Amino acid sequence: MKGKTAIITGAGRGIGRAVAVRLAKAGANVVINYLGNENAAKETQDLCLKEGAGATVVRGDVSCEEDCIRIVKTAVETFGTVDILVNNAGITRDGLLLRMDEKDFEAVMDTNLKGTFLMTKTVIRDMMKKRRGKIINVSSIVGIQGNPGQANYAAAKAGIIGFTKAAAREMAAKGININAVAPGFIETDMTAAMTDKAAETVTAAIPSGRLGKPEDVAETVAFLAGKESDYITGQIICVDGGLCMK
Ligand code: NAP
Repeated sequence: MKGKTAIITGAGRGIGRAVAVRLAKAGANVVINYLGNENAAKETQDLCLKEGAGATVVRGDVSCEEDCIRIVKTAVETFGTVDILVNNAGITRDGLLLRMDEKDFEAVMDTNLKGTFLMTKTVIRDMMKKRRGKIINVSSIVGIQGNPGQANYAAAKAGIIGFTKAAAREMAAKGININAVAPGFIETDMTAAMTDKAAETVTAAIPSGRLGKPEDVAETVAFLAGKESDYITGQIICVDGGLCMK
């Protein structure tokens, strides 16, 4: 990926950080987007610089179009172009359906689904001109099989799957590949709130017998960002130790 530029949203922590470091290791210049935790984003930047890649940090809310435009502009001004976009930024606001209020539904839809739409819309113009580009969306197995207490999150992640397929059909002839990964349970801040008992129950249900690591997801994203996957588009790859078999 030498000479390529990748934007990774929500790359300060967790899966986004692992993706940024993995793409930097492959030689890409990386644009590390975050929302509130600047120190974490700078730590990701240091890790990427150690790999010998170019790395810059940009704050921005992916649910705001102005911010998306600024993130992409920063990437182009710093590295000249954008070749890879990883729509990773995501949040949860869990609650049982009867008690889920509109704000929590909207917040999850805005960051996960609208953010994916806005960032994709912003980068594709340039990718279409070059007739080349790779977009990887981070969905979830929850978007495939649902999960109690996560109606908002499941809807957003299922939406990302539909969006990925529609966008892939629109963009395939323009040389832009758009795929998604659907992680299972990955050890990050997002899943850290699980009790030991819940983690034990989940682990027992995973055929591979362990929770996933951010690096497990990063490897699949790197494959979808590289030329080895040039003939793959509109696909959803579960990275979940076999938890969800379609
Ligand atoms: P995480 O550790 O909570 O990190 C989330 C990242 O997203 C942070 O860097 C955060 O920025 C950023 N972010 C949140 N809202 C944002 C916004 N509006 N604009 C820009 N950035 C924003 O989460 P994770 O577990 O790594 O999850 C990454 C992705 O994988 C998410 O889409 C998540 O839904 C998905 N996923 C995770 C799991 C899992 O088990 N962990 C499973 C399936 C799917 P700050 O650091 O600045 O707060």
